[in-house]
Amino acid sequence: MSVLEIKNLNVEYGIKDSVFGKEKIIKAVNDLSLEVNKGEIIAVAGESGCGKSTLANAITCLTPVKNGEILFHGVDVLGLRGRKLKIYRQAMQMIFQNPYSSLNPKMKIGDILKEPLKIHDDLCIYSEDYRALHEFSKDEINEIVSQVLETVGLDKSAMNMYPHEFSGGQRQRIAIARALILKPEFIIADEPVSALDVSIQAQIINLLLQLKNNFNLTIMFISHDMNVIRHIADRVAIMYLGKIVEIANTEQIFKYPQHPYTRMLLNAVPSFDKKNEFVPTGDLPSPMELPSGCAFHTRCQYCFEKCKTTEPDLRILYEDHKAACFLTDK
Ligand code: SF4
Repeated sequence: MSVLEIKNLNVEYGIKDSVFGKEKIIKAVNDLSLEVNKGEIIAVAGESGCGKSTLANAITCLTPVKNGEILFHGVDVLGLRGRKLKIYRQAMQMIFQNPYSSLNPKMKIGDILKEPLKIHDDLCIYSEDYRALHEFSKDEINEIVSQVLETVGLDKSAMNMYPHEFSGGQRQRIAIARALILKPEFIIADEPVSALDVSIQAQIINLLLQLKNNFNLTIMFISHDMNVIRHIADRVAIMYLGKIVEIANTEQIFKYPQHPYTRMLLNAVPSFDKKNEFVPTGDLPSPMELPSGCAFHTRCQYCFEKCKTTEPDLRILYEDHKAACFLTDK
């Protein structure tokens, strides 16, 4: 059952040309469609600049979209305002990449964690007798905060400490606690481990897997690191220049990648038994000047004439495996 459906989403930014002062349009998300099933971890993978974070910001209504639909349980969230938007944001939480900048250094951890409860204080998310959060006593709120700290593996004494007193991994646990405290149904984790040491990354990945099972969460895990994705995701969507170019369950993506870009990403993962079968050429083109036809044709060694003029559809290869490449027609 799909909990989130994105249909033909377009997100564009205008930026001024530094030389001529003309406005140029960046197509950060380009006619993207995606369904996310309840209870799964779907990874959105791709290089920096491919539009992953813009997609996350659009889903959480943090950035305006040009057109398209984002349906959460069938309701178009782009039209939500006021209390309805607040309820959606309670259900759809985000964890950001950098735990060093995402926590206010001047606030104690307890206050950082109470902040979302204050913003959503008219909602009844913690009581069976339908009391809104603003009806809770100070002690009850402190109890909620200490419980969520325990859930992410931290002692309740952390409430009285400041972010600088914690390591990177502990700060990311606090950021996860801040997302969890509103009892969300869906979490978008935007590169949540890329700022951490490899040894700490595994701990945070295991914590997310444990939380997903304990709280029946659906998670969109955004990352450029295919090694990390392999360990956490149920399905993987590969994004290139604002579009999904391949999507399948994790095993299919790693065992039978179909799109040359997916193979390029997998080839970039360090391994001893790698067969260097695909060598990428060139850098990611500017999203201000998207290539014609297949957007990957400027870097694809298999490119033929049709690729330069015609855009391949994302089509079903078998079961839930889809790819957008003419080679899969043959
Ligand atoms: Fe390469 Fe053509 Fe496939 Fe695009 S459609 S990935 S250019 S072979």
